[in-house]
Amino acid sequence: MGNAINRRSFLRLAGLGGAVFVSGLNGWATAAAQPGTTYDDFFFIQLSDSHWGFEGPPNPDARGTLKKAVAAVNGLDQLPDFIVFTGDLTHTTDDPKERRKRLTEFKDIVAGLKVQNIRFMPGEHDASLDHGEAYQEFFGKTHYTFDHKGMHFIVLDNVSDPAGSIGEAQLEWLATDLKQLSSDARIVVFTHRPLFDLYPQWDWATRDGAKAVELLMPHANVTVFYGHIHQEHHHMTGHIAHHSAKSLIFPLPAPGSQPKRAPLPWDDAHPYRGLGFREVEAEAQKAQYKIIELPVQKRES
Ligand SMILES: [Zn+2]
Repeated sequence: MGNAINRRSFLRLAGLGGAVFVSGLNGWATAAAQPGTTYDDFFFIQLSDSHWGFEGPPNPDARGTLKKAVAAVNGLDQLPDFIVFTGDLTHTTDDPKERRKRLTEFKDIVAGLKVQNIRFMPGEHDASLDHGEAYQEFFGKTHYTFDHKGMHFIVLDNVSDPAGSIGEAQLEWLATDLKQLSSDARIVVFTHRPLFDLYPQWDWATRDGAKAVELLMPHANVTVFYGHIHQEHHHMTGHIAHHSAKSLIFPLPAPGSQPKRAPLPWDDAHPYRGLGFREVEAEAQKAQYKIIELPVQKRES
């Protein structure tokens, strides 16, 4: 199985020139499988920050980019086991009716994905102005868990609270969930904001994110995938790796690299530059993840 995955990655890399980043700590936690646990390699797709409803010069194709990403995912030579959207599905609006219109349109567009095992979570653009009320009407709970091929996935909501906290109740829920897992369980966390203080001045942090990380620390195999910052970023807190994804609307500058958190300008010579989605190949037995960044539009070779 591992060989098949590696070969497929190689073929994809040869075709698209994406980058691979391997997460996890080789050999740090030797992956002794729990009795009765079967691990199987698979891959999923992470899409993030489509900001449906945004209009402006940073993306002259704001109404087309998400549809191009849907087509690109449908065009993969192998389809993923599931797809995850790590928040900011829609762009913020003060108008509750307009918010629901954007959520409706977003839902209609992603209904075109061939793989309909899709996990959603809100971003602050979707949820912070109404505490996630409209979001929940369309997509249900904002925090939940699911299991896939021996791995445990936890979706954390750090956006429905306008202050950007996870909150005591959800942290308690997380603690209870983690208590039932073995210390070497394969755990993947999906969330919108970074759980660590990447750049709090730009709202690139979770107020009580350190508490979530502390709860996760006793577990040897934890990896976090998030969105919100509209660029790839890789960071370790102890043995826990945190990987942010690109956006599907406009890229943002590197943390603190300029005075204001303003979108990077659209480049006519390189349309869709800085936008994209990623394929994550999960090698559950080794608790390793290969990340392959893919463009919204195929590059001309
Ligand atoms: Zn966000």
